[in-house]
Amino acid sequence: MKDVRLDSNALEIVHRLRDAGFEALLVGGCVRDLVMGNDPKDWDIATSATPDQIKRLFRRCRSVGAHFGVMMVTEFGTPYEVATFRTDGCYSDGRRPESVEFATMEEDIRRRDFTLNGLMLDPAADSLSAGLIDLVGGKADIERKVLRTIGNPDDRFREDHLRMLRAVRFAARLGFRVECETFESIRRNAPAIKEIATERITMELDLMLRGENPARAFLLLSESKLLAEVLPEVEAMREVPQPVQFHPEGDVFVHTLLALEYAQPGGPESLYWACLLHDVGKPPTLEWDGERPRFSGHDALGVTMADELMHRMKLPGKTIEVAKSLIAQHQKFMYLKEMRKAKLRRFLLQDHFDLHLALHYADCQSSHGKLGNYVFAKEQLEQIARDDEKTVVPAKTRIVTGDDLVALGYRPGPVFKEILEAAYDVQLEGGFESKEAAILFVKEKFPLTAS
Ligand code: ATP
Ligand code: MG
Repeated sequence: MKDVRLDSNALEIVHRLRDAGFEALLVGGCVRDLVMGNDPKDWDIATSATPDQIKRLFRRCRSVGAHFGVMMVTEFGTPYEVATFRTDGCYSDGRRPESVEFATMEEDIRRRDFTLNGLMLDPAADSLSAGLIDLVGGKADIERKVLRTIGNPDDRFREDHLRMLRAVRFAARLGFRVECETFESIRRNAPAIKEIATERITMELDLMLRGENPARAFLLLSESKLLAEVLPEVEAMREVPQPVQFHPEGDVFVHTLLALEYAQPGGPESLYWACLLHDVGKPPTLEWDGERPRFSGHDALGVTMADELMHRMKLPGKTIEVAKSLIAQHQKFMYLKEMRKAKLRRFLLQDHFDLHLALHYADCQSSHGKLGNYVFAKEQLEQIARDDEKTVVPAKTRIVTGDDLVALGYRPGPVFKEILEAAYDVQLEGGFESKEAAILFVKEKFPLTAS
């Protein structure tokens, strides 16, 4: 094809299917991406060959458990989805079709969700426009940057409620507008989203949080009424006022959306959820101090609320734990410069501090924009690294351990912790020249009683 670069393995798959007498075309996301001038991230193929016929043509391929009629060809290293043209049978539960039937190419196109996802491409054609099969007006919609369902939106969203979240995700990621009828239909059908399995909802939300325009995704979720259904605690942030001197950007919801935009890309799930929920405790703690809104204890209440929400959304335990720690401590950055050296260093040396710092950065950039404490934390980390070169044990490692205390003859018990913390405090303040000096400190400060 002269005007776009096609994936050679995908071409090989199409040719092999065609040489065996079947129809075969590129389909879905990759065609959309090519039309938009983007690099496809994966290449899917649709064909008239049945799974058994596909199996005979490829040395290595297996069926994809959940999706009937879809084979994964793995003989080129990266997997390729090769799916038999099909229609989804009737949907009675709003989630999954009861049966799947093999069908024509046209029928396969019409079962797809949005016009921009309903394009197919003949890769043997001379050019993109010559090879494009567009039965649903997908190209025009892409050009106008419009997301629209194929067919009647009420029918399509009632068949599969998850499509409502997919609509928001694609519109946000691609910077498209949701066509009016489609959008109104989502607003009407939003309550049905709760019939979908939580794991699938969470997967969509995760993709939005990590995706290209998370703020736009959450704004669309709110305006489509989906947010009030899936995360009412986040919807409750809308129009909750904040003091203008610290938050010139606006209400708690606006601040949260901006924070998502400032969270570093490529971060872990825990950072994005913490960003979304760091101020979730603000709406219920709002109190007026004269003209000024205050939110005392919003971080602590936020942790409780975030815990409930993230468990409800079935996020992994580790993600929940890290996100809660980020939320619990996000206000502490305000007091960094007042902290004693040992306390400051304990804070900076805690696990996942890079994420704490990333949340703080996003929190500042999405409000007053002052990065004094952020810069201070980074400088202090650099200072610790320089100090580590000169000390016998790096600051993160305790110079005196429980084993040392046992060897010295101390009896394990509550006093152990007290001794270890006292020794670590002195270590962090820079007080020990050597391990011996640390042991001497322990012996003098906590004399062994003759018991
Ligand atoms: P991405 O780049 O995010 O992978 P994609 O368009 O490839 O985008 P997938 O979720 O991988 O999206 O789905 C592949 C194709 O299958 C879609 O383009 C669409 O045609 C169809 N599809 C996927 N999910 C649905 C659904 N719930 N209802 C109807 N069609 C769907
Ligand atoms: Mg895909």
